[in-house]
Amino acid sequence: MLLLPVERKRAGLERMGKSSEIDSKRLNEWLQATATTEDQEVDCDALSDVIEGVVEAALSGADVRSLLPHIAVHLDHCPDCRDWYETLLALAEEEQ
Ligand SMILES: [Zn+2]
Repeated sequence: MLLLPVERKRAGLERMGKSSEIDSKRLNEWLQATATTEDQEVDCDALSDVIEGVVEAALSGADVRSLLPHIAVHLDHCPDCRDWYETLLALAEEEQ
């Protein structure tokens, strides 16, 4: 079941608070695990599972576009997910 964008946004924000203690080691492990799913098609549901990690990666200076090209492609083509990602990113940057 797909959630409405606003519901996904809220869910992402709540999870964002809990994941704010991701350290760089865990982030690297997560990046490697996520990058190995490259062959799989990324849809909105799959992206919703990893989006806070993508935000963390971007904030830590990782090049999301080269590390996670399949995710970058989905963000390029899906306005809903791009809006959501940019909202999370902007909020996370405000908190820093
Ligand atoms: Zn999407």
